[in-house]
Parts: sequence; C-alpha cells; structure tokens
Amino acid sequence: MYANVSLFIDGAWTEAASGRTLTVMNPATGEPLGTVAHAERPDLDRALAAAEKGFAVWKKVSAYERSKIMRKAAGLIRERVDLIATFMTQEQGKPLVEAKGELMAGADVIEWFAEEARRAYGRVIPARAEGVYQLVIKEPVGPVAAFTPWNFPINQAVRKISAALAAGCSVILKGPEETPASCAELVRAYADAGLPPGAVQLVYGIPAEISEYLIPHPVIRKMSFTGSTAVGKQLAALAGLHMKRVTMELGGHAPAIVFDDADIDVASKILATNKFRNAGQVCVSPTRFLVQESVYENFVDKFVKVAEAVKVGDGLDPSSTMGPLANPRRVTAMEGFIADAVTKGATVKTGGKRIGNKGNFFEPTVLADLTLDMRVMNEEPFGPLALMVPFKHFDDVVQEANRLPYGLAAYAYTRSAKTANAIAAAVESGMMSINHHGLALPEVPFGGIKDSGYGSEGGLEAIEAYLNTKFVTQAGL
Ligand code: NAD
Repeated sequence: MYANVSLFIDGAWTEAASGRTLTVMNPATGEPLGTVAHAERPDLDRALAAAEKGFAVWKKVSAYERSKIMRKAAGLIRERVDLIATFMTQEQGKPLVEAKGELMAGADVIEWFAEEARRAYGRVIPARAEGVYQLVIKEPVGPVAAFTPWNFPINQAVRKISAALAAGCSVILKGPEETPASCAELVRAYADAGLPPGAVQLVYGIPAEISEYLIPHPVIRKMSFTGSTAVGKQLAALAGLHMKRVTMELGGHAPAIVFDDADIDVASKILATNKFRNAGQVCVSPTRFLVQESVYENFVDKFVKVAEAVKVGDGLDPSSTMGPLANPRRVTAMEGFIADAVTKGATVKTGGKRIGNKGNFFEPTVLADLTLDMRVMNEEPFGPLALMVPFKHFDDVVQEANRLPYGLAAYAYTRSAKTANAIAAAVESGMMSINHHGLALPEVPFGGIKDSGYGSEGGLEAIEAYLNTKFVTQAGL
C-alpha cells in the first residue's frame, strides 16, 4: 500500500523531467518499498519559477484567508492520520503509535501558525512632529528554500512550511529522500485545503545539488535547514555568501542532569522512555546522563530496567515500542561508537549489538565507565545509546554539560527550586526541561545555540524568521 512519490510543482504532482527516480527502502526489512522522483536542474527551474509566481499570489491573500486554508489542512491531516502514519512507519521505522502522535502534533503546529498568521502585527511609534505617522510593517521575506531530514518526516517539514505560509511566503521544500511519502502527504493536505498553485513546491533529489542551486538563486530570499551541524555549517556559509536569511536547527548532545535530591523513579522512567523514542534519532534526545554520585547506581539500575523492557520490532507490529534505525548508516555508526568506547574501557550495561541480520534493528544500549577521549562522548550518537557519567559537585556537572560545542536541549531533575534555578541559568542550551519532558510544543520556542544553530522553530519567534520589518514614516500633506 506504499505510494510512489512524485514532485509537487506549481500545484501539480509531476515526475522528474528526466524520468529518474530514487529507491525508498523499508528499514524493518531492508527491502525496497517504492520510489521517489529525482529532481534535477530543469525541475528546480520550474519550481523556482512557480515559487516566484506563487509568492506574488500568496502574499496578497489576506492573513484571515491564509489562516482558514491552513486550518483546513490541519483537519485533513487528522482525517488521514491512519494512512499517513502507515506510510511513515513503513519508510522511517518508528512504531505506528509514534507516527500517529507525530501527525497529530503536526496538525497542532499548522493550527498554531494559522493563528499566528493573523497576529503578525506591526506597530506605530510616536512621532516627534505633529501629523507624522511612524509605522513598522511586517512583510513576508519572499520565496523560501527549506531542507528537512528523515527522522521526523512530518514534523521537521511542517514547522518550516507552516511558518513560511503563515507569513505569506512561498516555499520550495526539499523533503527527505529516504522517507518521502509521509512528507508528500503533508504537502497534499495543504494542496487539497486550497493553497494556490506555486505557494508550496516539493522536490527530492541529491541534497547537495539542490541546496547548491537553490540557496544562491536570486528568487530565494531565505533558507531553513534541519540536519547535522557539519552540513548546516556548509549551508550557512553558502547562504552568508549570498546574504540570505537563515534558520539552522542542527545537532545536539543533550546533558540530562540528575541531582541527588531528585525523584529517581520519575527521572529514570521519563529520561529512559525519551532516550529510546524514535530509536534515539532525535536532535533533542537526552544523551549524556550526568548523575550525582550518591544516586548513580540506583539511577543506572532503574534506567537499565526500562531499557531492557523496550520491545524492539517492526513498527507496524502494535507490540513494538522501538522500531529499526531509519537507515543502515545509523547501525554502522552505533557499532563504531560502541567499539571505540569499549576499546577505551567503557562497560556495556545492556544492549550493544545489532539484532538479527535483516532490517536495521539495534538493541537499546547503556554504556558506563566513559572517558572524554571516547568518540561517543563528543559526537552526536543519534541512535539508542545512553551514556552514564557520575558527578560530584554542581560546578563539575556544569563544566561537563557545557564542554561540547553543542547547545540544543538540556534536562535536569531535582526537588530543590534553588538548584533548578541555578542549573537553568548555568547550562548553555537553547532549551532546558526540568523535572519533566516538556519540549517541542508549537507555542514554545524550539532551537539551539552554539554549534546547534540559530533561530527558533516554535513560539512567536518562529514566524518572525519569515518576516521582514519595514519602517514607513508619513507626514500629512
Ligand atoms: P547527513 O549529515 O548526510 O545528512 C543530514 C541531513 O542533511 C539529511 O536530511 C540530508 O538529506 C541533508 N543534507 C546532507 N547534505 C546536504 C546538503 N549538502 N544540502 C542540503 N541538505 C543536505 O547525515 P545523515 O546520515 O542523513 O544523518 C546523520 C546525522 O545527521 C546525525 O548524526 C545527526 O547529527 C544529523 N541529523 C540531525 C537531525 C536533526 O533533527 N537535527 C535530523 C537528521 C539527521
């Protein structure tokens, strides 16, 4: 029942001009699932022309009407949740229940931005002279090039498309080639909701070829990227060269700090559950578990129990609580991280191996006795690896939390309000969640600092990234 995926340009689903396609694989079986159209220059030129034309139309649609179309798209996503979630699980691997959750959250994101569309307020600044009006006006930046990855095929794309459309921009989205069908259904919901032709285009192909062509192109006024820090830096440099506005949502290596006064049952359960969600392929996944010495053994024991209760299997099987990794690169990466750590003295508390030889299944893994020279302590694992590290004092844990160039998410558990305030202030991160897992709602900011990028993809800051500020001063005649 998996659908082959086409490009969407100027309001129509279309094959690539060359007729070329890429193969989509099922990560649970290692077998081909279908194909996705492979765009090249002639397709990108059509997409650019359509985005330019689409912008001229969409920016003139009132915020009230834009908001109505967007709400309709959110409704269509909810209506189609079972079909789209099945596509997502087939192509990405995550359990069906997680895929459905992602879609419902995606519909919420659309509604949030539909509301924000009507609140893209300017302001009036009191003038020095009588009869002068000083106006601050918000205008859409123009056609946007957006690049989204395979870990959350809907939710990475929906934030970018919806913020851009709410602001009155048109978009060319380069979707994830490995998980294209669910992302295409998001675009279909928008198209079916009545978006005018050209407001959104969807392309797939060779990521570097597409970004190198679109980012410098004069039609494109802004780019937004979610993916690895290494690629993000290259694309930000290219955008800088051409003075294009940029939002960058990049990698992380989140510290999860557990103080000795925390509720260890609660902390171990919430943190372990979130570690293995989407098989750890989450930019805000808790990764370095920094646990105060006196509660370290207790925390690790409880965490390992949760890890061992995770049921790894095909995401379409309702009993699976963790699916396969999304692609074979992640299996190779996990094996490399673990081998390097073990060679340098790490202990595998649980897991550590690939499961079977068909599909990309991997055991939920907990490592201890870690040292800073191990690769996994420095590079984003982006998989089901939890790193246990004891600490003595507040200052020690702050130093370790801030040691890496990443600064995306951080977590802390403590019963002390004083410690909670102090750790929130001391950790260098774009987001901090204390005593619960509360990130990534549409109405709250979402983004990183340092090598994790810049800009926000949630909250009122998110639409601002797609707006220009124009100052108009007017005197009476
Ligand atoms: P990768 O670095 O090759 O690609 C990451 C993403 O960037 C993919 O979606 C890819 O299509 C895109 N990409 C790569 N080169 C590009 C280019 N030149 N122009 C435009 N887009 C480009 O690695 P990968 O194996 O796909 O993913 C592994 C790493 O990527 C992970 O370790 C993780 O750090 C990062 N990642 C982060 C997120 C996130 O949510 N921030 C999501 C997916 C991957």
